[in-house]
Formats: sequence, C-alpha cells, structure tokens
Amino acid sequence: MTRDQVFEFFRRLAEANPAPTTELESSNPYQLLVAVVLSAQATDASVNIACRPLFERIKTPRQMTALGEDDLREAIKSIGLFNTKAKNVIALSEALIERFGGEVPRTREELESLPGVGRKTANVVLNTAFGEETFAVDTHVFRVCNRTGLAPGKTVDEVEAKLEKIVPQPFRRDAHHWLILHGRYTCKARLPECWRCPVIDLCRYKPKTPPPEERVKPSAARSASRASSKARIAKGRTAAQPRAGRSRSRPSRLP
Ligand code: SF4
Repeated sequence: MTRDQVFEFFRRLAEANPAPTTELESSNPYQLLVAVVLSAQATDASVNIACRPLFERIKTPRQMTALGEDDLREAIKSIGLFNTKAKNVIALSEALIERFGGEVPRTREELESLPGVGRKTANVVLNTAFGEETFAVDTHVFRVCNRTGLAPGKTVDEVEAKLEKIVPQPFRRDAHHWLILHGRYTCKARLPECWRCPVIDLCRYKPKTPPPEERVKPSAARSASRASSKARIAKGRTAAQPRAGRSRSRPSRLP
C-alpha cells in the first residue's frame, strides 16, 4: 500500500470506531497485566467471565499472593492452560512485589523479565495502561496485515516492525486496537466479511467475499451438483441406447 492508502485505511477504521480499546476488563495496570497473561490462547470473553469475580477481590500483587495458587487455579479453571497460567500469575505477582514494590513496571525490558510475559503482553500493557505507541501483533493483527497487504510479514516480529515503520500519526496509539477489532469482527479468519468492510477498495485480498444473498449456500451447491451428476448420467444412458439397439439388431451367428 502507498503511504496515502495506509493513512486512508486507518482514517476509515478510526471513523467507524473513534475510541477503540481492549475488550479485556480491568481497573488498574496490574489487573490488565494479569488479564493479558490469562488471555494467551483464550478469548477475551472467557477471560472476562473468569476474572470479573476474581478482580472484585484481587486488585494488587499482594492480594494475589495471599490468595495463593490453588485458589487462583480454581478461579480461572474455565480458561485454557489454567494450571500453567496460575503458576505464572503467582510468580509474576511475587516478582512485582520483590523487584518493583508491587507496581507494574513501565519499560519493555522490565515487563518481559516477568514470568509469563512475552513481547505481545508487554506491548498491550505499555499501550493500554501507559499510553505508549506500541503494536501488539496477535493472530488477528497478523492475519489482517498479511491479507490486506498493509504490513505483510512471515513472523509476528516482521509484521510488528513494518507497522512501526508505516503507521502514521494520529493513528499510532490506537492502531493495534483497530486492527484487532477489524480482524475479530469483520476480516474474520474463516470468512472475511468483505461486503461490509470499510477498507474493501484498499485491500489486496482476492477474491472478495460477496454478500450472503449472492453466495450459493453449501447445501444448495450440493443439490445442484447432485442434480447435474444425475443429468449427466441420464444423458449418458440415452446416448448409449442406440448402440445397444444396434448390437441387438446384429445377425446372430448361432444357427
Ligand atoms: S476486504 Fe475482506 S479481506 Fe480485505 S480487509 Fe476487508 S474483510 Fe478483510
């Protein structure tokens, strides 16, 4: 995409959703950090369901370590990989208390030094809790950037580096939210909803998905295919009949 197209891409996403943010619920940076750690390979909705009652009681690392790993495991058992995640959350809470006085640190290096915290989690916390212009690349952002041609790359690091380079102001702060939401609700993994996409003319993905009323339903397609097979078979039989007739009319060699 050209520089003007990239600007127009984000201008339209911003117009449709002027104040995007994460769908993970939290009331302070610590809860956000915990929620992001829990959201690995899980949906934000499932994390919110488990964390709502938990976050009513637990707002600080000290409260989390007082709760303990067993009770935390019980509270988050509806989330995938809850055993490992409970261990990590307790370990990262202990590290926050021991090394950062119970506060969430504000640098990438410090965040990434915490148990269970990778680059993507650090990017989300830096952006959402502290207002940094970071680009967290999750599965949705990775897909949208590659499909559209906005910031193609073979790895999440490559995509992130391209986004760093091409996203203009005033969109840098919220770019990753727009890309996540666009991927989650419009440019979906299985079937992108191109017919209602605000950036359809800027996106290089082909073929574009037509509106539902113009699409042949799979069941209708199967019926059509069965009907056409039957028609072909019937036609074949009709064509074969004269030959069968000729063979019957041949003189018999038998006396
Ligand atoms: S046109 Fe389709 S593939 Fe392109 S961004 Fe929109 S939904 Fe995704």
